[in-house]
Amino acid sequence: MYGAFYKRTYRCLLDRGEFSAFRIYPSKTREHEKLDEFLDVPYFIESPDGVYGNVTMQEVYVCPTCGFASNDDGFFEGESQYEQTLELSSREITFLLTAREARLDVLARMTRMYECPRTLDDALISLELGVMCSQTLYEMETIRFSIETLRIANYSLKAARLCRENNRPGTELEWLFKALGWLNKALESGIKGLARFRMLYQLLALGIMVGENKLASTAYMRLSELAKEEEHPDLSRYVNRAKGVWGERRELYDEMCPELLK
Ligand SMILES: [Zn+2]
Repeated sequence: MYGAFYKRTYRCLLDRGEFSAFRIYPSKTREHEKLDEFLDVPYFIESPDGVYGNVTMQEVYVCPTCGFASNDDGFFEGESQYEQTLELSSREITFLLTAREARLDVLARMTRMYECPRTLDDALISLELGVMCSQTLYEMETIRFSIETLRIANYSLKAARLCRENNRPGTELEWLFKALGWLNKALESGIKGLARFRMLYQLLALGIMVGENKLASTAYMRLSELAKEEEHPDLSRYVNRAKGVWGERRELYDEMCPELLK
């Protein structure tokens, strides 16, 4: 009925708002998931038989009564009592609810957010709300929620991808610059390990893509310094990819999407 998806009911941790969301069957993920290797972002395709499978359009949960939105299901209670939800203090809940009006103004633009598939505009609204909520979380507690900087960057890269697939180059560029700004902010957030390796690679690739060569070179230097300090198979993989991308510079992207930067 919903292609590769099944329907579930969730409740928001902030105000108990209840809504339906659509998750992809785990067995179907491999059929639909691809990787944008240049930006290291997953994206999804419909299967050749036309069965809908674009997770990016559905992955952000949106509470209908307070507009809280995230792709982290830890913020929402599912049907099973065994699922792990985040512990939020009453002070944190109050803080998150104070930004409700601004979120509801954005949500008011939706047409069929709680159906499957969402429209492109609804999908972009869900990502916009996800960005707003991650920003609120990060501004509330920058250390506890430092990972939200990367979540925002990746929401933005996914939104940019949707815009590219639907031929909206102006909006794509806005989302790419938003991603660049948050990746740059994440540099100083103390995030370590695989998430940091990936962030540095994405900053390099995106910097080259939009012509911010200084940021790209900073990311390349930081990645090279890390490689001198620690050894990790994932780090080596990202360093090698960075060398390849850095070598080819932005001509690679000019070939992929020449109309974007005119
Ligand atoms: Zn809510």
